[in-house]
Amino acid sequence: MAPMEKSDSYQYARDILQQTYGYSEFRPSQQAIIETAIDGEDCLVLMPTGGGKSLCYQIPALVREGMGLVVSPLIALMQDQVSALQQLGIHAGFWNSTLTREARAHLSRSIHNGQLQLLYIAPESLMQPHTLEWLKQCSLSLIAIDEAHCVSQWGHDFRQDYLLLHRLQEHFPSVPRMALTATANEQTQSDIINGLQLHKPKQFIQSFDRPNIRYWVENKTDAKKQLRRFLSNHQDSSGIVYCLSRKRVEAIASWLCGQGFNALPYHAGLDTGERANNQALFLREEKVIMVATVAFGMGIDKPDVRFVCHLDLPKSMEAYYQETGRAGRDGKAADAWMCYGLQDVVQLSQMIDNSQGDEQFKRHEKQKLDALLGWCEITQCRRQALLHYFNEDYPDQCNNCDTCLSPPETWDATVSAQKLLSCVYRTGQRFGITHVIDVLQGKSTDKVKQFRHEQLSTFGIGEDTAVQQWRSVTRQLMVNGFIYSNNQHYGAITLTEKARPLLRGDIQLQLRKETAKTSLTKKPKKQHRVSDGDRHLWDALRGCRQRLAQQQGVPPYVIFHDATLMEMMEYKPTDRQQLLTLNGIGENKMERYGQDFIEVIAEYI
Ligand code: ADP
Ligand code: ZN
Repeated sequence: MAPMEKSDSYQYARDILQQTYGYSEFRPSQQAIIETAIDGEDCLVLMPTGGGKSLCYQIPALVREGMGLVVSPLIALMQDQVSALQQLGIHAGFWNSTLTREARAHLSRSIHNGQLQLLYIAPESLMQPHTLEWLKQCSLSLIAIDEAHCVSQWGHDFRQDYLLLHRLQEHFPSVPRMALTATANEQTQSDIINGLQLHKPKQFIQSFDRPNIRYWVENKTDAKKQLRRFLSNHQDSSGIVYCLSRKRVEAIASWLCGQGFNALPYHAGLDTGERANNQALFLREEKVIMVATVAFGMGIDKPDVRFVCHLDLPKSMEAYYQETGRAGRDGKAADAWMCYGLQDVVQLSQMIDNSQGDEQFKRHEKQKLDALLGWCEITQCRRQALLHYFNEDYPDQCNNCDTCLSPPETWDATVSAQKLLSCVYRTGQRFGITHVIDVLQGKSTDKVKQFRHEQLSTFGIGEDTAVQQWRSVTRQLMVNGFIYSNNQHYGAITLTEKARPLLRGDIQLQLRKETAKTSLTKKPKKQHRVSDGDRHLWDALRGCRQRLAQQQGVPPYVIFHDATLMEMMEYKPTDRQQLLTLNGIGENKMERYGQDFIEVIAEYI
């Protein structure tokens, strides 16, 4: 391609968007990023999951002369990323340690012929001297460094190989580089710029809001029953259920299977083959629920994950944001649902106490946990508070979280809290919560008799209040720092300094009323509902997509996203021209699949 005027290149970028990808418009931030890269400047792109990062480097790589290089740590997912590009008619390939000799030879030929447009490569392969020498002989249009936060040694995804990437600057001084990540904080941003030695990078930092995700948090009473109730509204969808331990992952997965769901386990204790297999099933099949520890998820770019559930508390706000962020990449309504209870609070703080690491580390981890717990108990808009934690202002109520949709009621809990605190005090701050509540309720258990706790003034003073209510008060007192579970003393509930003024009656205490939230009344925003009449067409379209996907061994969303099938239902196109106007149908996919879908639609007109 001959060098072009700037304005021609920008227009060419737009043509690729429309003709190759089948999208009508750039998202606002995409256009600026793409034009910067076309101009040959380095940039740093921070965009939330689902924001559309891939187009930001793919399109300039196609517009500029030479082959685009995409550095990615996600070897297991490269095949799918490349398949998705090939579906669009883009010549893409990947280079990593899993390739056979033949595949390597084949790939090098097409690179040397100048046929390959995009090459995905793992950092450890890229930085080998012979690879670098060999790439220097090619003309490169752009180097994109995906998951760029992996260069940060303080982050949770640090990769040693990423540290070498700063040398790309010496090896390819005239090739623009683009670093991309969905990890928000400022420390990470400067780590990326320094670690990769980007040259005067333009920074594009987007809002981290995920408006289509609805956040809701429930008090845990019977986790399985609550999950069951939640899932009854998600029969037809794929989702992820996060649990803390491997044992629990196994138990919940098999229980869900028994309940008629298609659930699979995923944790670090499974062998590599089974893990890879379960991941592939999750990506390729529909309506699969992945029950997983946090080992699952990085780089999973399945666009139609409709829900992420937390049956146990995540470790921090950062972890929560990242894990829930895997829902709804396609921009359609998705749920982030969590249920947590007193036991979680106790368990997590025990885990921190028993972890390796010095006191400073533990204190830091505790602070992070406290921030999350505080967030769980807030009575204002959750989105506002979540974004605030990441230093972002969100001025209004979101109307798409549990606290907005059904504002929690509060009650004056001063007297109840005093009863509980004095019962903890009278029993000597030596017991776990179960015993304390037994004493409050006046139960003559063996332990009560053994310690003669029926003789205490607090014995039976909480008779009129249910156990669940006492647990709720305890949890909230714990989260608000009036008591803590002392892990040096087998988790005995212990008073803090803060308890004193409350006991004396110097302060009042308002607590949340617990309500079952599984029936939030308002529907989420932007929900696409399929009417019964269209149900058959919908199933037929999905069936057609599944068949085509299976023939080629790719995930169904690589053929078309749900959003594109929805548009087919809405507009019922009868010819190729009409089909081309739909979002997500470019020329190549039109050629390959247009006829199949037109025939399916014709049966329902
Ligand atoms: P990220 O890597 O930031 O998580 P992706 O690049 O996977 O996001 O894009 C998220 C989704 O948005 C994909 O399904 C993609 O096809 C879609 N998308 C991206 N840009 C556009 C656009 N300009 N118009 C319509 N859809 C888009
Ligand atoms: Zn809200």
